[in-house]
Amino acid sequence: MTDLPGIVVTGASGRMGRMLIAAVAASGKARLVGALEREGHAWVGQDAGVAMGGAPIGVLVTDDPLEAFAKAQAVIDFTAPDATVGFAALAAQARAVHVIGTTGLEPAHLAKIAAAARHAVIVRAGNMSLGVNLLTQLTQRVAAALDADWDIEIVEAHHNRKVDAPSGTALMLGEAAAAGRGVDLAAVSDRGRDGITGARERGHIGFAAIRGGDVVGEHDVIFAAAGERIVLRHIATDRAIFARGALRAALWGQDRIPGEYDMLDVLGI
Ligand code: NAP
Repeated sequence: MTDLPGIVVTGASGRMGRMLIAAVAASGKARLVGALEREGHAWVGQDAGVAMGGAPIGVLVTDDPLEAFAKAQAVIDFTAPDATVGFAALAAQARAVHVIGTTGLEPAHLAKIAAAARHAVIVRAGNMSLGVNLLTQLTQRVAAALDADWDIEIVEAHHNRKVDAPSGTALMLGEAAAAGRGVDLAAVSDRGRDGITGARERGHIGFAAIRGGDVVGEHDVIFAAAGERIVLRHIATDRAIFARGALRAALWGQDRIPGEYDMLDVLGI
């Protein structure tokens, strides 16, 4: 039992943090060795299971990442960009695999994550589910097969607490579509249309975001031409799919050489 990889979950009280703690505890493939929250959080010092409203699980929530990471073989992190960058440096120091689910990362964050990946294994994906990662492959293939007579639009819906838009998943799908077309997404991306925008530019990839209620995550990749449309759709109904994917990534990352990987590497697709 004790030689199972030890996992620390950051952002323990978050929507994904709770899901991850439950997934690790139930997996039989890893041990929860730490649950992290920020300084001053009401959960710090409490048993993580009790804080979540259940039975004790023998892991106290801590606000000390260094101490927690020193005991871990992997850190699973679904928090916020600035926090994730800090955790990347500390996880690399501890030589723990860092699984990053956090979205909304800007180029400056990504550069720091790349620096940490020189010393440790990092698996990062805007979506950790098998279904969405398969959808990126399909999107790339369809985009490669169609010319710019087909307008590509990506429409996503999420719950009303989500802070970034477009979603990390929408951007992954946009990158896949751009790769299929052989173009740079940054050069063709249309985000946040409003007002007199002029006609749609041929070859551009559009993004639209819906926010409301408790939607876990829905993504449509629309290929629209004169007289017909193809719609590729993924609907997530349970956050457990992301937690299971993240745990799989943490286990996959053990004994890999340092570097930055994604879920396509983990899933081998
Ligand atoms: P959430 O419920 O708001 O949870 C975020 C957690 O991170 C909270 O516990 C929060 O603590 C903590 N946190 C935020 N900033 C922090 C900091 N500076 N230091 C330490 N802890 C910090 O959000 P969520 O829905 O779980 O989503 C978290 C992230 O995962 C988002 O970026 C989301 O887009 C992403 N996500 C990715 C996937 C995927 O498959 N890749 C799937 C779902 C979600 P406080 O409450 O104290 O702020």
